[in-house]
Amino acid sequence: MLNSLRIGTRLGLAFALLLALLGAVAAVSLSRLDRLLTVTQSLVDVQVQKLYLAHMADQHALTAANQLLILLQTPDRNRRVGLYQQMDGELDAADLAVTRLDKALSEQPSPPSAAEQAQLARLKVLRGRYNDRFYQTVNLIELSGPEKARQQFEVSTRQALSALLDETRLLSDTQQQLMRVELWQLDQAERQARTLVVSLSAGALLLGMVLAWRMSRSITRPVSEAVGVAEAIAQGDLHRPVPSGGRDEVGKLLGALRVMRDAISSREARILRLAYVDDLTGLPNRTRFVEVFQAQPAEAHGAVLVFDIDRFALINHALGLQVGDRLLREIGLRLSSLLTTRQLMVRLWADQFALLLPDADLAAAQALGERMMALLRTPQVLDGQRLDVSGTLGIALFPQDGRDAPTLLRRAELAARGAKRHRLPWLSFAESGAEPAHGQLSLIGEMREALARGEFVLFYQPKVDLQAGRMTSAEALLRWRHPERGMIAPGLFIPFAEQTGFIREITPWLLDQVMGHAAAWRRAGSAVVPSVNLSAHDLLNPGLADQVAELLQRHGLTPDALCLEITESALMEDPTLALTLLDRLSALGVKLSIDDYGSGQASLGYLKTLPVNELKIDRVFVDGVADTPKNAAIVRSTILLCHELGLSVVAEGAETAAELDWLRANGCDLVQGYVLARPMPLEQFLAWQSPVV
Ligand code: C2E
Ligand code: CA
Ligand code: CA
Repeated sequence: MLNSLRIGTRLGLAFALLLALLGAVAAVSLSRLDRLLTVTQSLVDVQVQKLYLAHMADQHALTAANQLLILLQTPDRNRRVGLYQQMDGELDAADLAVTRLDKALSEQPSPPSAAEQAQLARLKVLRGRYNDRFYQTVNLIELSGPEKARQQFEVSTRQALSALLDETRLLSDTQQQLMRVELWQLDQAERQARTLVVSLSAGALLLGMVLAWRMSRSITRPVSEAVGVAEAIAQGDLHRPVPSGGRDEVGKLLGALRVMRDAISSREARILRLAYVDDLTGLPNRTRFVEVFQAQPAEAHGAVLVFDIDRFALINHALGLQVGDRLLREIGLRLSSLLTTRQLMVRLWADQFALLLPDADLAAAQALGERMMALLRTPQVLDGQRLDVSGTLGIALFPQDGRDAPTLLRRAELAARGAKRHRLPWLSFAESGAEPAHGQLSLIGEMREALARGEFVLFYQPKVDLQAGRMTSAEALLRWRHPERGMIAPGLFIPFAEQTGFIREITPWLLDQVMGHAAAWRRAGSAVVPSVNLSAHDLLNPGLADQVAELLQRHGLTPDALCLEITESALMEDPTLALTLLDRLSALGVKLSIDDYGSGQASLGYLKTLPVNELKIDRVFVDGVADTPKNAAIVRSTILLCHELGLSVVAEGAETAAELDWLRANGCDLVQGYVLARPMPLEQFLAWQSPVV
């Protein structure tokens, strides 16, 4: 009932009730006090006066009686005259007291009692009688002498006098009696008033307490419910039910809390979506991955997989971003259908996805990888175009490969890159040897100083023209002559120079060196064309073409005196930008060569659109080409196609005479390999004589 009233109304009512109670107690107390006062006043005014008057009448009568006795003993007339006067005074005073008492009786608030009236009437009669007797006695004194008078006094006056005195004494006593009664009544009335006021106050106090308790309970209970709800919301519990509450302010507060909780919950959901979901695919994102990973118990083990779509940049480039986006969505959808509820798949960025497989070992991760690849082999049809999509997987295991998500993701990614390099569908981090060992880390730090101190040196490896039977060009290969570690192979530092971007400082230095050498060779009458390897980073440098042009000019070289080797995987990082650069370099007249052909996924169809002059077949195909029919078929058809496209073909890594023979017999233009020469320092290279091939 209380709860249906507003708190303000409730408090108002409670205070009004308390005020009314206080008012009632005060009013009753006042009226009681008033009555007490009246009684006291009447007692003071009337009763005390009555008592006083009765007492006065008694005293004056007694004095007059004594004077009469003295008079009777006084023979001297002259002395008697004085006494007469005194007696008159006393009697008059006694009379006056009686008259005033009579008046007081008639004026008192309560009518005088019958006894009182009768007593006063008796007193008046006795007074009249005594008066008569007194004057008789006085007459006798004056006419017949004191002796006669004494006799008469003894006979009648004394009697009247004592009757009067008795009566006045009685009057005084009665009034005293009345006074005591009144006092007792007053005491009674006061006691009653006190009892009433005390019990009324106690009642009011009790009622007030009950009221306050009920009131505070009716407020505090819903308020503490509201506090509980607010605390739950603050702790992030958005599912705790909010009690409905009454129609009062707290009810409204609870309603507002409900609205607030709903708003927070929907906003939280939105924020979570923004923070944790990848917009394009609807999959969770990297942040979510890291969070889920961190939420695992410390002793958890499992696998982190990074999945990378092959040739995605090419698809984007050739078919447009929209098709690329749809492909990413489709792949996300397909692959996530393979996962159990405990497994998580997120999109990291671009065409990279990551998977978290709790409790999985390498075999389980590979088994899933196999199923993923199988699923991808079913061709995708997007916009009526059939797409054959493949991907590469890198696997990192925890805790052995790392204990935190960023490390594991990075290592799985390195493993995926390793897999791409080795053209494997997947590779585990442990197998990839991708991360720099401790010693290599310090190398990264030393690279900048090494360049300044001239520790980088160039080796040259001849490329021999099989038809002409002589070296027409040579590949410049970088070495690091480390003061403590000796000669360091490029495979140990170039990848990190690329990762850290330091390659941008190495390449211009290298181009300058190589062109300096080339100019010297020209001056010495040699037309050998040096080739320089460009990294993916160099291809993203828009200023490179200008740098090359400027260096050619500085060294007085024609552009065809330089060849640049570009790997197809480097081209794929940003095909559009790379193509622009190649076009500019080609326009300059610099020779361009596709390096490591076959190690990536680019097709000859794509390569023919590039402005290149040369194609270098990767070592793995050349290796054992004479007795590996599959390799032989690949190399042969590549040579044929290249010739059709007007490209010259370089076979890299020929190590045996049999390979060399096979290559010559199959029309390969150039050979670069240990069978002819290893990379050599400049002096040795200059002294090198091409063997008769
Ligand atoms: P690459 O461009 O494919 O260079 C050819 C590599 O094959 C060289 O290794 C060379 O020594 C090796 N090689 C040549 N013939 C044979 C052979 O008959 N058998 C075998 N097993 N190997 C042979 P190197 O000098 O260790 O260079 C490794 C890689 O380092 C190069 O591969 C290239 O990608 C990179 N690199 C080297 N120098 C530079 C450079 O100046 N700039 C850039 N960006 N990368 C460089
Ligand atoms: Ca090369
Ligand atoms: Ca190569």
